[in-house]
Amino acid sequence: MARRKIKNPLIKSSPSVKPGFHEYLMGIALAVRARANCKGRHVGAVLAMDERVISTGYNGTPRGMKNCEEGGCYRCDNREKRFGPGTAYDICICVHAEQNALLAAARFGVPSAGAAIFTTHQPCFGCAKELLQAGVKEVYYVKSWVPDDKDLARQYRIVLDRFDRVQRLSSMDFDESK
Ligand SMILES: [Zn+2]
Ligand SMILES: [Zn+2]
Repeated sequence: MARRKIKNPLIKSSPSVKPGFHEYLMGIALAVRARANCKGRHVGAVLAMDERVISTGYNGTPRGMKNCEEGGCYRCDNREKRFGPGTAYDICICVHAEQNALLAAARFGVPSAGAAIFTTHQPCFGCAKELLQAGVKEVYYVKSWVPDDKDLARQYRIVLDRFDRVQRLSSMDFDESK
């Protein structure tokens, strides 16, 4: 597997500039993203409560299974040839970063009610529903996602509107190719 260079906006910023809490937590999400193992886009997420990290997650196959990038997921392996982008999630083995952050909290008995999620990519419809139902109140992301299907866009908007806050942190933008 080719080594990817990790680019974290916090690392290159001047040491004399103390990041705000949003930048601090998203900087951690960007570092977590470097652990992602999926043939799709790499995503990192941090679940935070009262400005403290309570859980992290990145996308890939479940613990103990063959990694996605080593061919562990048939759907991701065939995402160009057989399945269109953003489709066939129902047969995808990979767990999304936001799901993994919620599930790590569940695994270790950490409550997620009232938490905020910092995720490098705007949550998909499935993750948005799960975050909402887990009691997450605020969603911060860097890369935005616009559903191209009209019905999905409508349903997605209904879910997003239930959060107290959904905000893109544009100052944290990063180059996905690196
Ligand atoms: Zn995958
Ligand atoms: Zn998702």
